[in-house]
Amino acid sequence: MPGKYQICTNCVMDTSDPQITFDEQGQCDFCSNYYHTILPSWHADERGWMELEALALKMKKDGKGKQYDCIIGMSGGVDSSYLTYIVKIKMDLRPLLVTVDTGWNLDVANENVDRMVKALGLDLETITIDYEEINALQLAFLKAAVPYQDLPQDCGLFAALYNYANEKGIKYILTGGNYSTECVKPPLEWTYINDVTMLKDIFRRFGNGKFEKYPLCGMFKKRVWYRYGKGIQVLWPLNYVKYDKAEATKILEAKVGWKSYDKKHFENRFTRFYEGYWLPRKFGYDKRRCYDSSMILTGQMTREEALRDLEQQPYDEQTAMEDKKYICERLGITEEQMDEFFALPNKTYRDYKNSLWIINMAVRLAMLLGVEKRNFR
Ligand SMILES: [Zn+2]
Repeated sequence: MPGKYQICTNCVMDTSDPQITFDEQGQCDFCSNYYHTILPSWHADERGWMELEALALKMKKDGKGKQYDCIIGMSGGVDSSYLTYIVKIKMDLRPLLVTVDTGWNLDVANENVDRMVKALGLDLETITIDYEEINALQLAFLKAAVPYQDLPQDCGLFAALYNYANEKGIKYILTGGNYSTECVKPPLEWTYINDVTMLKDIFRRFGNGKFEKYPLCGMFKKRVWYRYGKGIQVLWPLNYVKYDKAEATKILEAKVGWKSYDKKHFENRFTRFYEGYWLPRKFGYDKRRCYDSSMILTGQMTREEALRDLEQQPYDEQTAMEDKKYICERLGITEEQMDEFFALPNKTYRDYKNSLWIINMAVRLAMLLGVEKRNFR
């Protein structure tokens, strides 16, 4: 890595994010964005609750005569589970849970989804993404040697949910996205974004087989056509309430028999491999830095605890090797081939066709309108 190593004096973000900047006190731009942009507009108190109640009333009114008031994309993780609990119990709404099956979910996730459905008496719709197609896309991404190996799942999940809401005429999509655990958004270099142009280019160059059933929903379709053409709104209810992850976990365990698991996003086998192995070992990017920094900024973890956490391996070697074997089998490659992909020169979105400039414009606009407040770079 060129340049001198530096780590923020307030959180644990460091120069493994190539675009990070620091002030004279050694505080990074994620921290400054949090204190100056996010915090002043974030009201997880009485005021937030009143705003949320007003939103609930509006959703109920718009949902009159329909079977559901809104849909929730449910992963079985703590964010979407706690969101569901708030929406059903506190906001008294009729959500439809939608889970997207990419074939990589671990049992703990599926079991949590079942528990939520049973305990809260909800309906669940499962959308399955064609396994063969997603496998082919994931294999193409491995060959493309980019950091963002989870985009095939992420983009598919997101598109399946939005396209479904549109088909069913449901006007509100509620997401578990929140500042409390995600105020430090992983840098673009680590995770990139939902960019259909790049997805298609990578598949065209490295993909085999078909790419027809896989759901697509680019930024323009989502942010402009669905939002303004179809009036579909995306809401982040967890930002209106106090969301303390440890407390939320306890509530879920007590009320719905929810089961906790190791780390954020470790409910999915491929994601676990990507975040715990591919990203840190091949690129030196450790997403725990973002999670832990978010937890530090929101007072849920100390910096010392985060530094201790980061001294540990993201996940144990045995699980890593088992996951690798499983993934190779499913993708129809040998472990030697996986090692060859791993050894390829590192690439980024700049090496492929992309629509970043358009997306950048859309995000800048969202920032101007105050819809997006987190660092985008
Ligand atoms: Zn910082």
